Amino acid sequence: MNTTVPVSRALFDNIMVPCFSPAPFIPVRGRGACIWDQDDRMYIDFAAGVAVNALGHCHPAMVAALEAQSKKLWHVSNWFTNEPALRLAKRLVEHTFADRVFFCNSGAEANEAALKLARRYAHDTAGPQKSQVISLTNSFHGRTFFTVTAGGQPKYSSGFGPVPGGITHVPYNDEDALQAAFDEHGDNVCAVILETIQGEGGVIPLTEDFLHLARHLCSWHEALLILDEIQTGMGRTGALFSYMNKGITPDILTSAKGLGGGFPLGAMLTTNEVARVFTPGTHGTTYGGNPLACAIGEAVFDVINNREFLEGVKTRHRLFMAGLNAIQQRRPFCKAIRGEGLLIGCELDGSLKGRVSDVIAAAGKAGLLALAAGPDVLRLAPPLIIAEEDIREGLARLETALTSLLT
Ligand SMILES: *Cc1c(COP(=O)(O)O)cnc(C)c1O
Repeated sequence: MNTTVPVSRALFDNIMVPCFSPAPFIPVRGRGACIWDQDDRMYIDFAAGVAVNALGHCHPAMVAALEAQSKKLWHVSNWFTNEPALRLAKRLVEHTFADRVFFCNSGAEANEAALKLARRYAHDTAGPQKSQVISLTNSFHGRTFFTVTAGGQPKYSSGFGPVPGGITHVPYNDEDALQAAFDEHGDNVCAVILETIQGEGGVIPLTEDFLHLARHLCSWHEALLILDEIQTGMGRTGALFSYMNKGITPDILTSAKGLGGGFPLGAMLTTNEVARVFTPGTHGTTYGGNPLACAIGEAVFDVINNREFLEGVKTRHRLFMAGLNAIQQRRPFCKAIRGEGLLIGCELDGSLKGRVSDVIAAAGKAGLLALAAGPDVLRLAPPLIIAEEDIREGLARLETALTSLLT
């Protein structure tokens, strides 16, 4: 089959493993915050490939970086280092709490590395009994078996046989429950892993009090605080990483999604003290730090990491909130609109409660790409560069979609 032979959506149902259920149309090209399908129909993109396409589609800086690197060096493995990986790592350590970087290819791999590192650090510094991981209900950390078990959504981790042990879940934003988990496990806790805003779980921000308590208890018990910023990082909330606005500093931070802006790239960031236990051979990856991926990551980083760009995210947040509140006035559809920057959740209410997939299907018909975060929450995570007119047009299309369902 070559690329000139048309393929249809029906083919998906015949030959793909059915763990996904994609939209009825097939996107073929994109530019900025717009996508076109096989029939050349245009969609406004409020999804950004699930908060991945931070700079939209085919951003000139990314295309230039990809083209230049594609003519130099694609892959060398970790038996060699390479210039793009070192340049991107240098940016990440210069602009965050971290001293050291481990590259990988996805969010799940970044969290897998973070959890393994936390376990190993505790093992080597305190002993094998210090292995307990505390995670939160409703959280999402990826789909490898360790990360999906750490995640707080049992529907994703059950049915696959014995699960990795030593993981305790406490209800999110429940300070007493977090304190109680530390009272029970004490100095045997090796790590707490959390998202500053639970993304897949419904765009639910953790309270500053809860975040501060987590930081405090980790420090007291010499456990590591792992912040999963895979969705909230790289400018998504209006800060380079969202911890920077929360008054806490993690021991380990994971990034992916926006980091590669659409090219598979993940990273785990940590301190000198913690990183030292990952000696040669303790952990690894074939593709992690691939020069092609890192060259693109550099281009993304340089566009995002400046005050003007991050202010632009906050300006767009205000446009979204004003537009969504205006829709809500005319046509009540939700009971809460929440989030930061360009990670926004609308909790559906009334006749739309539990019907986010209907809302997304209607949005598709109206020419808009949007996301779910659980059955009740419509999640909007557009490219961070989305133009004001595309925000207005996308919100108008959202209102059309809601109208079709509410009347
Ligand atoms: C998407 C996501 C992951 C998993 O990333 P993959 O690249 O799909 O493995 C982990 N944590 C959070 C918070 C995410 O949003």
